[in-house]
Amino acid sequence: MCKVVKFGGSSLASAEQFRKVGDIIHSDADRCYVVPSAPGKRFKKDSKVTDMLYACYECAQADRNFKDQLAAIKARYQEIIDGLGLDLNLDGEFETIEKYFTYKAGRDYAASRGEYLNGIIMAAYLEYEFVDAAEVICFDEEGVFDPEETNRVLGKRLSQIEYAVIPGFYGARPGGDIRTFSRGGSDITGSIVAKAVQADVYENWTDVSGFLVADPGIIDNPKGIDVITYRELRELSYMGAGVLHEESIFPVRQENIPINIRNTNSPEDSGTWIVGSTCQKSKYVITGIAGKKGFCSINIEKDKMNSEVGFGRKVLQVFEENDISFEHVPSGIDTMTVFVHQDEFMHKEQKVVANLYRLAKPDSIEIESDLALIAVVGRGMRATRGTAGRIFSALSHANVNVKMIDQGSSELNIIIGVTNDDFETAIKAIYDIFVLTNL
Ligand code: ASP
Repeated sequence: MCKVVKFGGSSLASAEQFRKVGDIIHSDADRCYVVPSAPGKRFKKDSKVTDMLYACYECAQADRNFKDQLAAIKARYQEIIDGLGLDLNLDGEFETIEKYFTYKAGRDYAASRGEYLNGIIMAAYLEYEFVDAAEVICFDEEGVFDPEETNRVLGKRLSQIEYAVIPGFYGARPGGDIRTFSRGGSDITGSIVAKAVQADVYENWTDVSGFLVADPGIIDNPKGIDVITYRELRELSYMGAGVLHEESIFPVRQENIPINIRNTNSPEDSGTWIVGSTCQKSKYVITGIAGKKGFCSINIEKDKMNSEVGFGRKVLQVFEENDISFEHVPSGIDTMTVFVHQDEFMHKEQKVVANLYRLAKPDSIEIESDLALIAVVGRGMRATRGTAGRIFSALSHANVNVKMIDQGSSELNIIIGVTNDDFETAIKAIYDIFVLTNL
């Protein structure tokens, strides 16, 4: 059995947190490959080391004095080293970093040092081998992540090492130039490592006990999700459910390696299992609810639209030409509605409308702003009759006006459009009917 374990920044923010992580790793000899983030916040108003590094590098880039900022970063690591009683000196590393900052080695290089240094400390603490991600996570000449080359190089390297620490978030181009993933990208590294070693499980340790059925900012103490499929998770993450970096699903999904989200501060909780498919029914008909505010709908009407070949293409072409991605396109017989992000659309509004009139020649166009989209996701919906009916009766009882309904043919989710003002009320009503009442 082989497990890849990734620990997030809050799990590694202090020596105390490192100790918890050490106990977790040592309690299971299968936890062979460890992927650490950079130290995160120790308390609410604290700074993440990655943010400190970005700020420090900005000074270096502007030829301002960055020494005090770099010293503050060094102090964060020193506190961890001292707290763990390690015999480890990072002076040489910080001299190199200072030199590279002075030569303006790049923002990605700067940010990557957070994980790099934490990896060195973690390896020393666990007495595991340190493998620099720059040697095994490969980006191509253009700076795009190269999954095939990485899988080859990383797989080969780790096949020779039983226990290793591989820092998250970064890799390098062929010449050694450092590249990072997007923010939160250590999750991606964990998934890549799990794929390369064909792990049995990818454990992702964070500061919550997995995914919740709904946002705790809206619902008091929402229930947790025990098992969720990759596809369900994709729908929920897309709609704003946090915890895991969206792109981290892909490498493990190809290999059908389950992800287990766990809580470093509560290791006895079993957390959430993310799997390819499962015969385990979720506790409720729905697996989760997520949503986002800030959409606009562009309602386009034209008589006999449905019999006009190419009408939809012309409409979508206008959005493409204006570089606006659309979210949903529900349509009626003589109407077609396009949902877009308000902030992407607002400043191009008049141009888009003019282009639509010119190209698609509709009878009328109406724009509605300040809308929210809510996704109700669940593999159980396919086998249950009346789910949509229950959602809409719950919403009507809560006095929520439904602006749009979109159910994918997979029957895995139902998307509902409401006004921004009704967003929280709608989520509460749906949660109540499926989870609290569990009719
Ligand atoms: N340290 C990086 C960040 O703050 C990457 C990560 O934590 O996953 O985004």
